[in-house]
Formats: sequence, structure tokens, C-alpha cells
Amino acid sequence: MKITDLNPHGGIGANCTYAKIGPFQFAIDSGLHPKYAGNDSLPRHEKIPSGTLDFILLTHCHLDHLGSLPLLSNLHPQAPIFLSYPSSILIRRMLSNSLAVMKRQRSELNLPELPLYGRSDLSNLYDRMEVLPLEEPLIFEKAGEEIEITAYHAGHVAGALSFEVSYLGKRTFFTGDVLFHDLRTLDGAQLPRQPVDTLVMETTRGMSERPAGKQRESEIVRLLQDIRKCLKRGGSALIPVFALGRMQEMLVVLDEARKNKALPPTPVFCSGLGMDLVNHMHQISRNFNRIHFSRKVLRSLGAQPLPRKIKPGEPVPMQGIYLVSSGMLVEHTPSYMLASSMLGNDRDGLFFVGYCDPNTPGGQLLTCTHGDDFLFEAVDIQTKIRATVQQYDLSGHADRDELLAYAKALSPRKIVLHHGDPESRAWFAQQLEACNLPVLDPEPLLEYEV
Ligand SMILES: [Zn+2]
Ligand SMILES: [Zn+2]
Repeated sequence: MKITDLNPHGGIGANCTYAKIGPFQFAIDSGLHPKYAGNDSLPRHEKIPSGTLDFILLTHCHLDHLGSLPLLSNLHPQAPIFLSYPSSILIRRMLSNSLAVMKRQRSELNLPELPLYGRSDLSNLYDRMEVLPLEEPLIFEKAGEEIEITAYHAGHVAGALSFEVSYLGKRTFFTGDVLFHDLRTLDGAQLPRQPVDTLVMETTRGMSERPAGKQRESEIVRLLQDIRKCLKRGGSALIPVFALGRMQEMLVVLDEARKNKALPPTPVFCSGLGMDLVNHMHQISRNFNRIHFSRKVLRSLGAQPLPRKIKPGEPVPMQGIYLVSSGMLVEHTPSYMLASSMLGNDRDGLFFVGYCDPNTPGGQLLTCTHGDDFLFEAVDIQTKIRATVQQYDLSGHADRDELLAYAKALSPRKIVLHHGDPESRAWFAQQLEACNLPVLDPEPLLEYEV
């Protein structure tokens, strides 16, 4: 197999992998880099000659995997897009939201190339989708040869898949983003354990050790305690979340806490995309037994849409819990605006429940200490950090020791590192090599034979 990582920035960012096996050529995912905008946020699609892909695999609907798929698909209109049933529903809402954001960014950021695609590109893309059922191999034929594609439930977020691709008895396994642990709303990954030739593995949490006292359930207890304290002193709690997955999971966690009297009956506010995705997740869970979610949680919790009156830097209009995107406080998002209002108030709290890229405002804030100045550059507001700022280890990605154990179980002849910052990849490389497992940490845009 020949493999090229088309994400030009390395690290996590704009995921897109280009693979050639025998006569077959395919791509896995086509994302947008969350830190950049416009052309800078794209994977290097031009490395794939136009019209040559046989198929495209989509692991899941987070934008770092999905956001540039309409462009890639336009360059390869003959290639079907294989995805899960939940992704085939979620993709529409995620991409139409992304299109709306790009239209806004066109003037905000003065980027004439935006939006990168239009409505007709989206409807063309939807016509090319083919749902893959779980664990049922699909045989794809070309020039008298066959390749077998099998999708597995990867946990992580609704509809997330890992893929096994098998050609002439040689098996390659692509983990995609994976979470083994069960969530309230989603079963953990159920992946095959038989040996493979090549393993392409995500490495998000290579630098995150999970100490014994920081199990997920105890992290939820700690989060609820901190929210309680913050509400008791008259403040509001901001929980920045990804609209897809994490917001619905947190709704269920808050609802449970409310029912157990672990939280007072304070208003809960959610941003629009996450509210819409609640309905989509509800619909999906009725046809897909690994997702457990009912939109009744909104009523039970009394969740409301975010008040319109929120202005950056001004006090929030109502005391409450604000469960809003983006999870990393990316500029111009509701969580960014709210943070600019709340960070200087010693009664308020900012509670991070997921990964923050170090170069996003969320990531930068997490390296600061109480009393530091913090600049919200996009709205030109500088404030002293007076609010409580905490992070909880509730990641949607597998712990590094779990991934290491998984890699060992598959005893691959080669492990290709993917989806991780350089230090995280280095940790995995060192650990795997110590077990005599050969590792490749590919340079972006270079083709490797594995
Ligand atoms: Zn993801
Ligand atoms: Zn990802």
C-alpha cells in the first residue's frame, strides 16, 4: 500500500489520507483545519489526480474530518462516499452549518474564496453517499480485482467508524477517531482483534496520561461539584462543547444530576446547532441501537436556546449553565463571546470538558493562571482572569494505554501514526518501538510504501 497524509500542517487539523492498494485508489476523510480559515484550512487535494479516486471513506462528521469533503468529492465525482447511517443524517446539518459559517467569515475575515462550496455542491455530494452497515464486508470491484471494505463501530461520536480494507489477503486497519469507553449516549468502540498487516492509528492522547484518581466518572463528579459552587456564589457556568456529540452527552449528564439533586434547578442554555443536532440524534437512535438518546432530555432539563442579547464583554443576561459551541472557544463562536463576558467575573466559571488545540483561544486560556491578562483579539477585549477555569478529562478519544494495548493485540507489521500532535506521536512511537512494533510517523504530503 502507498499512503500519503494530505493534512499539510501535521498534527491533527485537516484530516485527509490518500491510499493506493493494487489498482485501487481511495481517500479517507477530508476535513478542515479548525485553527485556519479559507484555503489555509484545506488538505492538499491537488496531490490526488482529479477523477482518479475509486471511493471515499468517511469516518465521522466532525469538521476536521468532513469539512472539505464537498470539494474532494467534486474533484472525484465518480467516487461513491461510504459512511455510516448516523453520518448520512448528521452530514447534512454539519455541512449546511459550515456553509453558513463560511458565508459569515467571508466579510469578517476578508477571505474572497469563501464559501468554499455552495448548496449545489452539497446536493451532489449527498447523491454520492452509500451507507455501509456495520461489520458486513463490501466487495468493491475494478479491472477484475476485488477489495473488501468493512466498517466497525468506533465510539467517539455518533456514527464514527473504523475501517478495515483487505486486498489479496493483506489487511489494513484505519482506526479513525476512536473511544473504547461507553458514554451515556453512545456505546464504546467494538473493534476486531485479529492480526492485521498495517494499522493506521489515531494518537490524540499520547501526551495525556490518565492518573488513577481521574477516571471519567470521578471527573464528572468533580465537574458537577464545581458547577454547584459557581451557581451557589451567584455566578454562571460556561461549558464549551462540540455541538455534535459532546453537547448531547452533557445534556444527559446535567439532566441526571438535576434528577439526583446534584444540581439546583438553574436555567440551561444551548447554542442553535447543538439544539438541532438533538433532534437528529433522537431520530438516529430509533434506528441504530448503539446510540441512546431522546430529545425528551431538553424538556426534562428545561433547556432553552441561547438568549439573543449576548454581547461580547458585557455581563450575561441571565444566571445559568451555558452549554455552547465551540468546544475550543474558536473566535466568533457563542462560547468565545460568552467567555469574553465571563472570564473577568470572579463568580463565573469556565469548565472545559474536551480537547483544546493549543493554538485556539481555549488552548491558550488553559495555559494561563488566575490573575493573568487575557486578550479576546477578535472582539478586542482584554480582561483579567478572575473566573474559575477548569478542565476535566472527559475526552472523546481513547486513553493512550488502551490504544497501545489495542495496537499490540493486532501485532501489525507496520503502524502508521495519525491524528496527533508531534509530542503525542513521539510518545506512541517510543512505546511501540519498545515492543518491537515498527512505526512510521509520516511527514505530511510525502508518499510512503507500507
Ligand atoms: Zn472527531
Ligand atoms: Zn478528529
